[in-house]
Amino acid sequence: MTKPRSTSPTRRGLVDAPTVRAETLSAAQKDGRSCCWCSAWANERFPVPILRGSANLHACGTCAGAYGVPAVTA
Ligand SMILES: [Zn+2]
Repeated sequence: MTKPRSTSPTRRGLVDAPTVRAETLSAAQKDGRSCCWCSAWANERFPVPILRGSANLHACGTCAGAYGVPAVTA
């Protein structure tokens, strides 16, 4: 009998999201126009709360779904 892993999925935050390094982001990524992970067209409904400050990161729908980025409706 195998026990289920005790890691809780209820913690707030991103799940298994790759680290986003500000120095590797393109201008479009920092501007929220391109997905900060895959450089696809970003969806403005998925702001990525990883970097504070001047960066305005967003994710595409695919990455948002994969990494648990909550959608905003505003
Ligand atoms: Zn993406």
